[in-house]
Amino acid sequence: MANAIRDSADNFKLAYRFSTVDCQRMRGAVMIDKFLEGNKRFIANDFEKDREYYKKLSTGQSPTALFIGCSDSRVNLERVVDAKMGEIFVHRNIGNIVPQDDVNLATVLEYAVKHLKVQDIVVFGHSDCGAMKALDAGPGSGDVFIPEWLDNAKEVKLLADEKMPDPKTPGAVREKRRLIEIENMRVQLEHLRSYDFIRKAEEEGTIALHGLYYDLETGDVSRTL
Ligand SMILES: [Zn+2]
Repeated sequence: MANAIRDSADNFKLAYRFSTVDCQRMRGAVMIDKFLEGNKRFIANDFEKDREYYKKLSTGQSPTALFIGCSDSRVNLERVVDAKMGEIFVHRNIGNIVPQDDVNLATVLEYAVKHLKVQDIVVFGHSDCGAMKALDAGPGSGDVFIPEWLDNAKEVKLLADEKMPDPKTPGAVREKRRLIEIENMRVQLEHLRSYDFIRKAEEEGTIALHGLYYDLETGDVSRTL
């Protein structure tokens, strides 16, 4: 009897697990179908109307700028500056950060500067950045990788705490967040200069470094640094 009850409970758990997995798969398939439908619209409304341009792109790229932006889904770098495909080489990560010892970013920099010969490198910050909120909140979330990653911006937190140790009003909290977002861009631009070939290229005038900031409330992109 006990065995029968246990078997039945196991079967129920199995069935529940399968149905949960099936539901997730179905939901995923619907979402992917939505994106594939979107691709058809892209081909009809954009690609087919600019065939020559896309034909040229199919054999090579010559972007003039490298943008280093945040992975945030609300910050579509090319779209907010109305750039065409092929104009901007892009690297995105949590918090638009430039680690000084990250082979992923270093490879992007090397390729962009030495091979693509981009003329501008942009650290692209934005308002309401979750990474900068996490940096301000400090460790304690139980996350493993995020605090280690944000350590690449630890001097930002120190400076912001020194300038605004205890913001009391909602306005002051917003002001501190913006301070952190802008200061992070400044620090990451300095990190860029810690790469010898970037500093040299800047000194020789073959590349220029910039900080652009996107305001999610207004859509405005401003030259901040
Ligand atoms: Zn962000």
